[in-house]
Amino acid sequence: MTTTATSESPRPWPVQECRSPRCKQPIIWTLTERGRDMPVDAEPSKGGNVALRWNADGDTVMSSVPKPHLAFGRHDLHMSHFATCPDAYWRAAPRGGGRRGRHA
Ligand SMILES: [Zn+2]
Repeated sequence: MTTTATSESPRPWPVQECRSPRCKQPIIWTLTERGRDMPVDAEPSKGGNVALRWNADGDTVMSSVPKPHLAFGRHDLHMSHFATCPDAYWRAAPRGGGRRGRHA
């Protein structure tokens, strides 16, 4: 028996810095099941409710919110950065406006 960890070893999430000059917290950009960009706190949190996973191509971090009974006891869930960012400009950002959510 050979054990290969290549497909099972967790990949590190692509951590970026929040664009808010008042925040600058490490965040991870994710794509929700509704196809919207959503930043989450880079560190898992006890109060987190967002599960992260890589998409099939392995180039996008997908986020989903597991049902409470599935989320119970998990320690790998993240908080939405919308909830923790001191800057509220996220909510006011126009959808599909001049600024794209990420820079490659
Ligand atoms: Zn922030």
